[in-house]
Amino acid sequence: MLLRLRSSASLAELEAVRALARELGYRARSVGERLDLLQLEGSDALVGGPDHPARFLDLSAVAEVLDRGAARELWQRAPGRAATVVEVAGVPIGGDGVVIIAGPCAVEDRERLLEVARGVRAAGAVLLRGGAYKPRSSPYSFQGLGEPGLALLAEARAETGLGIVTEVLDPRDVERVGLVADMYQVGARSMANFALLTELGRTQKPVLLKRGFAATVEELLGAAEYILAGGNEQVVLCERGVRSFDRVTRNLLDVGAIAHLAGATHLPILVDPSHAAGRADLVPRLARARPAAGAHGLVIEVHTAPEEAHSDGRQAIDLATLQQVVDDARALAELDGRVLVTRPTGHSSAHTRAPKRSCPS
Ligand code: PEP
Ligand code: MN
Repeated sequence: MLLRLRSSASLAELEAVRALARELGYRARSVGERLDLLQLEGSDALVGGPDHPARFLDLSAVAEVLDRGAARELWQRAPGRAATVVEVAGVPIGGDGVVIIAGPCAVEDRERLLEVARGVRAAGAVLLRGGAYKPRSSPYSFQGLGEPGLALLAEARAETGLGIVTEVLDPRDVERVGLVADMYQVGARSMANFALLTELGRTQKPVLLKRGFAATVEELLGAAEYILAGGNEQVVLCERGVRSFDRVTRNLLDVGAIAHLAGATHLPILVDPSHAAGRADLVPRLARARPAAGAHGLVIEVHTAPEEAHSDGRQAIDLATLQQVVDDARALAELDGRVLVTRPTGHSSAHTRAPKRSCPS
């Protein structure tokens, strides 16, 4: 590991750096005449904990970690490491497959949910996503049905066989939501809820982690690290657009971030064109950015009567458009040497804990 030290650091501050290096098993040596650089060496077996760079950075003498050496964080793609494939109710996310996850923004009522679920399945999506707990900007907006909504999701799974992706907002609800969810969603507004991330790290259930709309890529990866460091390796990242100065779309789909992540991390990455666009008419085009950027699938909002939707109606596509998006994704996946993942045969029981699989990148 290579540290850059502040030229203003006092002798006591510099000694604190050397003391931490000793404690963690590193030998510290200066680099030539450069008093501002400190090289930390040691055998990889002893040093290189994912937490080490952050611990040095916490010290006032350390300005920057110039080279992390072997101290990789858990989200990082290491040479020779297989890409992570996260299995959700029998559906593999990551690797060479392309998955389509779709559903209404919120669970609204039984008939609507079942109608959308059947349509989503018929169109070729492999997981049903819908919120029973909704993070809304106003406390007066529809907050979701809560527990009755979870029961409706369980019913939709029983009828269609589709695994369920649904949001958990509160660390106290992790267990309750986990009784129904095959995959937890952490929404953009909760990405930096570290108590929630820590709680999810204690489970062994897949997590769809959406990027906050004002979060840097580094902050997204830091959020993923909370879950991974807790022992839950089943994390899937999702780019859903960031705030920009332009109001022509609701958010700005950060295609560059997806391309960067595809190389930087072994974790699967999904694209949510619905929240990025905020407009149903742009969703099919933005969905086509997925293969270009190198993501592993799509998360799409669908409704059978968008004008009646309780939330995000303007960005909800209808079932015919979803069919077009799925057909596009299939054709583009094949061009890319990937395959569109189809629904697992037989009813996959939601609550058999899906083991994490790995396949070569
Ligand atoms: C949602 O998925 O409906 C949602 C609220 O998304 P985001 O957290 O990305 O805003
Ligand atoms: Mn939504």
